[in-house]
Formats: sequence, structure tokens, C-alpha cells
Amino acid sequence: MSVTSTDPLLPWQGESWRQLQQLRERLPHALLFYGAAGTGKTRFVEAFAKSLLCESPTPEAHACGVCPSCNWFSQSNHPDYRRVRPEVLEDEPGEDDSGEEKKTAKASKAPSKDIKIDQIRALADFMNVSTHRSGLRVVMLYPAEALNTAAANALLKTLEEPPPGTMFLLLSNRLDRLLPTILSRCRKFALNAPGHDEALAWLKQQGVKDADAWLAEQGGAPLAALEAAQGEGRE
Ligand SMILES: [Zn+2]
Repeated sequence: MSVTSTDPLLPWQGESWRQLQQLRERLPHALLFYGAAGTGKTRFVEAFAKSLLCESPTPEAHACGVCPSCNWFSQSNHPDYRRVRPEVLEDEPGEDDSGEEKKTAKASKAPSKDIKIDQIRALADFMNVSTHRSGLRVVMLYPAEALNTAAANALLKTLEEPPPGTMFLLLSNRLDRLLPTILSRCRKFALNAPGHDEALAWLKQQGVKDADAWLAEQGGAPLAALEAAQGEGRE
């Protein structure tokens, strides 16, 4: 197993990863990662969630990728992990999605762009059962600005009385759209966007033609640019 196989980060995320590890000694119960859309925050936070649940992390605190916990995580069925996101994102493959069991909630109406209160309530059951492995539960929720008012208030109650052994990882593209009460309950963690040259180099590495143009069109956000370029290619 090579070193690169356990480092799932994007080239511009190494320093943030090291900063994050300094929090591990005394992890807050809720972390709010924020930064520009399309710059790889989801990938970063999923890697962190996976590493928190991993049974034998590497010296750099990355998930090992081979323990039972990592295997469950990769198959999107870790019993101590929940991902909360709007319906509209359910078709979007995450870093570790296998691509299977994706067609669960296909309704004929347009998928919701909100995170709804039912999704927050469903977490209560998850948090009430004992954990299966390490004693830690992880909830990843994104984007936090998609929480509608009722859902945000329900989440706030949970954040005010955090269940033991549960770690909330929230992501936001727009901190200014979050309730101040939610903000005040989370430890904020900035995830910086890459510089132009770094973003461009990465895009070219992914085989994107006209990388410069795609990057400019997406305001310098490389993952957004990659998605746009690939979308174009399919048509
Ligand atoms: Zn592992």
C-alpha cells in the first residue's frame, strides 16, 4: 500500500489537514467547515469523517482504507455515519460512493433543494442507539445553508444538547446565510480555495481541455470547473 493511496486530499488541502489534526486532541462536538463552492470541501470533510471512524489511521491521520470501518465507509453503509444533504444532491456521487443503491428516493416531483426537518428528526434514532464500533458517531451535513427554518431549529436543539460521542461536521458555502445561533454552536474552520496556478495544474491533470476557460467560467473553483467540463463532454 503506497502513501498516496491513503491520502485522499486535493493538492491544496494539505495545510488545512495538518491544522485540523491539531484539533483532534480536544475535538469540539460540532465543526463547521466553510469556503467557496466547488473547491473540494466535501471531499476534504468526507476524508476527515472516514479517518475519525478508521480503526488504524496512518501517521498522517488519514484513514487506512482497509479496516472494516473503512470498508463500510467506502460502501456507504457505515452504521455510525450519516450524511445529511438535500434530495437534489442525492444523485451526486460522493468521494466514496459505490454508485449502487442510488435510486432509493426517486419521486416524480422535482427533488427538494432544502434539508428538511424530517431528515434532522431521523438523526434522533441514529443518535439513540449505541455505536457499533469505536464509540464515535459522525454526522456530515451539507450545505448547511440548505437547512430550512424548521430543520435549522431542530438541529439547533441537538447542537445545544449534544449527544455523547457524536461529532457533527457541517459544511457551508455561505456563512452569511446561516442562523447566528447555529454559527455560535459550531467551531468554524476555513477551507481555502486553491490559487489560480494550482487549480489550473490540477484541472489539466484531470485531462480537462481548455482548462483555463472552464476555470474562469467557474470563478476559479476547480471542482466546479471539472464538473462543468465533464457535463459538456457528455452532451
Ligand atoms: Zn481504516
